[in-house]
Amino acid sequence: MLILKKEFFEKIVNQSKRESPNEACGILAGKGQIVEKVYEMTNVDKSPSSFFMDAKEQLKAIKEIRSLGLEMLGIYHSHIASPAYPSAKDIELAFYPEVSYVIVSLKDKDNPQIRSFKIKEGIISEEELRII
Ligand SMILES: [Zn+2]
Repeated sequence: MLILKKEFFEKIVNQSKRESPNEACGILAGKGQIVEKVYEMTNVDKSPSSFFMDAKEQLKAIKEIRSLGLEMLGIYHSHIASPAYPSAKDIELAFYPEVSYVIVSLKDKDNPQIRSFKIKEGIISEEELRII
């Protein structure tokens, strides 16, 4: 399970809308199951159907997460026109079996969907994502 404060959910949705039609991406940091920080990342793919986080920004965020005594709990990105479910490419590029892959879908612009998955050796399992 992953627990996300409503303000973080809104931050991710706003970033996704701002970067639309391209996908938005970022890192969720926290402790245990609770997200305490959201790092917005640049999608260097600049694509409506894929994302790749800027390596320098990612490294900087990971260093800060460590120095704060937090962990990288998740990686999020947006889907502009498809459901909040991992694409074939998302599965292929899911390098961290221990982190949550959070996907926000703007398919229904007025009612963004958000879901969280673990992806291990190509196998997707959905986990509960609680917005508080
Ligand atoms: Zn995706």
